[in-house]
Amino acid sequence: MKVVLVGFRGTGKTSVGRILANRLRVPFYDTDALVERRAGMPIPEIFRQYGEAHFRALEREVIASLRTAEGVIGTGGGAVCDPANVADLRRHGTVFLLSAAPEVIHERIAGSDRPGLTDLPPAEEVRTLLAQRKNAYLGAADACIYTGTRTPAGVAETILRQIRGEAGLFPAERRERDGLLGKFGLETVREMIERDPGLLVCGIAGNPCAHSKSPLLYNRLFAHFGMHYHYTRFEWPDAGVIVRLANLLPTKGLSVTIPFKTDVMGHLDETDDHAAAIGAVNTVVRCGGRMYGHNTDWLGVRAPLAHRQGARAVVLGAGGAAAAAVYALVSLDMDVTVLSRTPDAAQRLAERFGCLWGRLEEFKGVDADVVVHATPVGMEPDTRSLLAPGDLERGTTVFDLVYTPPETPLIRAAREAGCETIPGTEMFVHQATEQFRLITGIAVSPALVREMLA
Ligand code: NAP
Repeated sequence: MKVVLVGFRGTGKTSVGRILANRLRVPFYDTDALVERRAGMPIPEIFRQYGEAHFRALEREVIASLRTAEGVIGTGGGAVCDPANVADLRRHGTVFLLSAAPEVIHERIAGSDRPGLTDLPPAEEVRTLLAQRKNAYLGAADACIYTGTRTPAGVAETILRQIRGEAGLFPAERRERDGLLGKFGLETVREMIERDPGLLVCGIAGNPCAHSKSPLLYNRLFAHFGMHYHYTRFEWPDAGVIVRLANLLPTKGLSVTIPFKTDVMGHLDETDDHAAAIGAVNTVVRCGGRMYGHNTDWLGVRAPLAHRQGARAVVLGAGGAAAAAVYALVSLDMDVTVLSRTPDAAQRLAERFGCLWGRLEEFKGVDADVVVHATPVGMEPDTRSLLAPGDLERGTTVFDLVYTPPETPLIRAAREAGCETIPGTEMFVHQATEQFRLITGIAVSPALVREMLA
């Protein structure tokens, strides 16, 4: 058994960890203490003599050495900011995030000899670092426990109950969960979590979503990283019902697809600034019973086009994917024109981001270095393309967001015209790397995602 405690300094990781290890009769590893032993000096001295980077390198070595350890591991407050640490901590382990309000943390660590990590006054430093590390903490954790005014023994007891599978649902909630699982056709998920109380669940929320490659990708990644997770499909016509079911299951994250990317926002506890600006959520992280919405679609458009910074771009279409594309292109300082068969929709989208707009027929009149296609035209079984080779200039970069078939009619036309082409699978790959990191805290390379999808 490997139980890992993460969280900010002053959240009780060491005291809770010692009690837990004692109760479970397993060793307790305190990574800060192991770093001190390795360096032969206390942490303030490591910082004074060699700086934070050296401390982080030692911490990385210590955590890597505990990859296959059995016992309770208490980590330093910043350990999860390095995704490589998270991959090692998560391998065959269960990660608990201990959390507390900034004021509580500040009070608990006042008078400590630990060096500050910024030039800010202590209370301000706690608030700033907590905000900076928020996604890393929420991603790295399997469960979150608020330690606020609770004693270390009380927190340890809660963790023990969760490990033993005793912290379940009320009978009425269990009936509701089982009823919904039956309606969704997910009896196998019920059997899996009943057989195995430590199993965590993720899934794709959509209608339809039978075609999605996410279950294949995620389940392969979970196996690759030794994570005790199962990824399923939540296919139902109502986003609210899907969110309710996710809340009744040990859910860690959701991928959100058509038609719920906007609807789902009304059912979440928080939405980040990028998702709010785009007006769509495609990623939900659940931790401590709260749901956090993000958008990684725009990063899936941005990464493959990063080499075209400052270019003139045209986006074809004005729906959800187009909004993420426009947001991505504007973030790359591109001059963007939105063209759509419904000019009002093009105008609404363009005006939100200070761009130009027009009808699809106006394409020829717009000088573009980059074309992003964001309509379903050309998606199997459709064999049409909005543009012919003669519409395109050699050297233009054409990114077709449609990814079935792998080579769309537009990509074929663009290749014929001598354009640089980027297939829609690249958007999927790059958005998925970001989504996996938000949900699990582990960084995967686009190459690994491509390999897992093959
Ligand atoms: P959406 O919100 O329904 O928007 C579709 C857009 O396409 C609208 O502007 C719509 O115009 C336009 N459109 C639909 N049919 C058209 C036609 N026959 N001719 C011209 N324009 C047409 O859909 P979405 O979520 O943005 O998705 C758009 C495409 O992006 C889909 O093919 C989807 O598979 C792809 N996508 C790919 C990824 C990826 O990872 N690669 C991720 C997300 C989406 P009206 O307003 O006039 O209907």
